[in-house]
Amino acid sequence: MRHAFTRTAALVSVVLGFGACVDDECHDEDTCTDDSALFEQAYDESLQPGKEDGTDCSGVRVPDRTGFNKRIALTFDDGPNPATTPKVIQVLKAHNAPATFFTNGSRYATPGAKEIAAQIAADPSFILANHSQGHLNLAQQSATKVASEIDRTDALIRAAGETPRYFRFPFGSSTCATMKQARDRGYIVTGWHVDSADWCYASGNGVCKASTFRYVPDSMRNDMKAYVMSQVRANNGGIVLFHDIHPSTADHLDEILTALEAAGYTFVRLDDTRAFPKLHGATPQPSPFIGTACTTNAQCAFAGGRCHSAGFCTQSCAGACPDQSGAAPTFCIADPASTSTVAGICVSKAAAQNGQCASLPGTVKTEASRFIGSSGAAPATATVCKPR
Ligand SMILES: [Zn+2]
Repeated sequence: MRHAFTRTAALVSVVLGFGACVDDECHDEDTCTDDSALFEQAYDESLQPGKEDGTDCSGVRVPDRTGFNKRIALTFDDGPNPATTPKVIQVLKAHNAPATFFTNGSRYATPGAKEIAAQIAADPSFILANHSQGHLNLAQQSATKVASEIDRTDALIRAAGETPRYFRFPFGSSTCATMKQARDRGYIVTGWHVDSADWCYASGNGVCKASTFRYVPDSMRNDMKAYVMSQVRANNGGIVLFHDIHPSTADHLDEILTALEAAGYTFVRLDDTRAFPKLHGATPQPSPFIGTACTTNAQCAFAGGRCHSAGFCTQSCAGACPDQSGAAPTFCIADPASTSTVAGICVSKAAAQNGQCASLPGTVKTEASRFIGSSGAAPATATVCKPR
């Protein structure tokens, strides 16, 4: 298994007719990196607890670990590849899916690659990002070499028309020293939550062999879609890693995105600070609940949640409503917006969390009676934020 990288690259070379290694400085197979071992290391690393305060030196772990609420940021590494990236872009556009492309500077020399990079940079749904020049294991390189690996691709991205913000270490392999080098340049270092293992499926002609990546369950070894779905489900969304250099990835992307949409997942940009606040050094938003300001039902992603026309999240009730720690306490009242008199809605009580209703502009602070409905609850009143 030592030279999986070389064999994969050779296969790609045969299929696509261009240079073997992604790494333009890796021609001797004894110095080529073994990508299987590194991806297994990355998988192991992703399961470690790590730090969520921005001081983690892992190039794999993302500081946001939970709270994705079925939101996915798609990422594609190792391009641009004129033979496969345009197909990936076409599928993404058909699904209205934003994506980030972590590109290798060595790829820009391929005829047509610079034009694709410029197309990505110019498209408002896409982000052009830095994946180093030659896809080396940067944890094993000198500081000077790491600097040039970052800076050469940085210059190419700027020439393509984008100011790069995101850096991903090849194989997610970093040290605290290399992490500091990337961060000192202003980069947000970005790992992933889900490895699609598309590189493994590509290396086995559609079969991800146990000898190449042992973490794929046997039942999914010839079914990349099933593996991706299982990993996305386990994380309830998150940042998903693909590689736009493989024809098989381009060919399977449509069915994978279709399956994700059917399962209720939505695609967001990597710079979505609601989905990935800690990655961006932002304070995480409390998860939506009764009383959260909203304009769409999608913003009220909790059981039974919907956006009331007054502009806050609610749910139907009779007699009682649930409370959530950190959020204002709740109360069940008759919905003044309902044409029927039998509809109960959960509202927030006037509290510090909503500035005594001032932060819910569609409401007024008022005394209201409990909606009892068929619950048999005792009559009561409370001071609530009632829809105007
Ligand atoms: Zn890569």
